Amino acid sequence: MGDFLVVGAGVAGAAAGYFLSEYGHVTLLEMEAVPGYHSTGRSAALFSEYYGNPTVRALTAASRTFLLTPPPGFADGPLLAPRGVLTLCPAGGEEEFAAMLADGLSAPVPVREVDVAEVTRHCPVVRPGRYVRAMVKPGAMDIDVDLLHQGFLRGVRARGGAVVMRARVRALSRSGGLWRAATDAGEFTAPVVVDAAGAWADEVAALAGVRPLGLTPLRRTAFMADPPAGVDAARWPMVTDVADSFYFKPESGRLLVSPSDATPVPPCDARPDDLDVARAVERVEEATTLRIRGVRRAWAGLRTAAPDDTPVVGEAPDAPGFVWLAGLGGYGVQTSPAAGRIAAAAATRTPPPADGVDPAALSPGRFAAASHITESETFASRRTTVE
Ligand SMILES: Cc1cc2nc3c(=O)[nH]c(=O)nc-3n(C[C@H](O)[C@H](O)[C@H](O)COP(=O)(O)OP(=O)(O)OC[C@H]3O[C@@H](n4cnc5c(N)ncnc54)[C@H](O)[C@@H]3O)c2cc1C
Repeated sequence: MGDFLVVGAGVAGAAAGYFLSEYGHVTLLEMEAVPGYHSTGRSAALFSEYYGNPTVRALTAASRTFLLTPPPGFADGPLLAPRGVLTLCPAGGEEEFAAMLADGLSAPVPVREVDVAEVTRHCPVVRPGRYVRAMVKPGAMDIDVDLLHQGFLRGVRARGGAVVMRARVRALSRSGGLWRAATDAGEFTAPVVVDAAGAWADEVAALAGVRPLGLTPLRRTAFMADPPAGVDAARWPMVTDVADSFYFKPESGRLLVSPSDATPVPPCDARPDDLDVARAVERVEEATTLRIRGVRRAWAGLRTAAPDDTPVVGEAPDAPGFVWLAGLGGYGVQTSPAAGRIAAAAATRTPPPADGVDPAALSPGRFAAASHITESETFASRRTTVE
């Protein structure tokens, strides 16, 4: 018997496991053969304190110190590297742009408006004359997601914990103060279970008889394309527009491109849709002088959101010893250190870190009185086994 079971070994579960292993024995249960097979391995790898609502931003800010100065031995290189974001405003988007600018002025590294005539100094392929205003978000950084994820997992193992792959949790029951998880790799027990199952978090909760949150997995598509021949794009910022209708950013010598789609889908191994890829090509070609000749590798991943698009971290009000770490949306990598620490505090019932994040804003209890779950989604009508 261990002290903590964590369902899901993506970046969220790995982070929770890392911090929990300071308190006791951790077992990470992962259904796939590779941790990070789903959302964690498919992200755009950006750290942006300008992104999301105030709670998300607080979580991101609370993660910065860990990411900039991880504990000795955590990673053999930097987890963050300078990138920046260039946000463009077409005619008609001025109101949104002004609001974003005002908002971004209070970020730890404030946004800065740049002269639209000089926008090509920041990224030479932006189509001249197409935009009326532009701003840079200088504090945004690239995250080395694999280094971060592996650092968490290594930390779990180094403290005696176990990372069990091909261990899909198929049943979860509680008796005598213990959770019992029946998995493809055998049975595991512990007094506390952390649900970090990403797109499947509601299904895992249903296995445990815990009221689901009404999470929605949202598919997002991305692909790699070549920059123009002979052009070194490595230092370009991420480029996007104020409506978030596309983005592209340098990545491993190529450009990572996305139409910023958010299509609700059931939990699944997400696949890219040709139409979304075509949409991204069209939008990037309108916004820039780039001609996207070959799509090198396309993929899709799930950004799984709670009804209020705010992560859910805390003990379930209806199930002692069941801790949610879910609904991390498009922010799960950049918030993983702070979210993992808060999940660990909830799981150990120790005071949450004094890191500027209000635990009540993340608490699953915020949904308790709300009727956000429709009749068809109530617990009784949900499947109680995972296929
Ligand atoms: C295209 C794209 C771009 C993104 N860009 C960014 C970005 O720039 N910055 C950022 O911070 N975030 C970004 N995100 C979001 C980020 O990837 C996610 O928020 C994050 O990876 C969520 O981590 P997770 O551990 O919750 O989920 P996952 O990585 O999906 O992990 C959940 C794990 O649970 C496992 N699991 C599920 N059910 C069971 C079960 N029954 N038993 C055992 N295991 C189970 C799954 O196999 C999975 O490995 C992006 C996402 C996408 C798709």
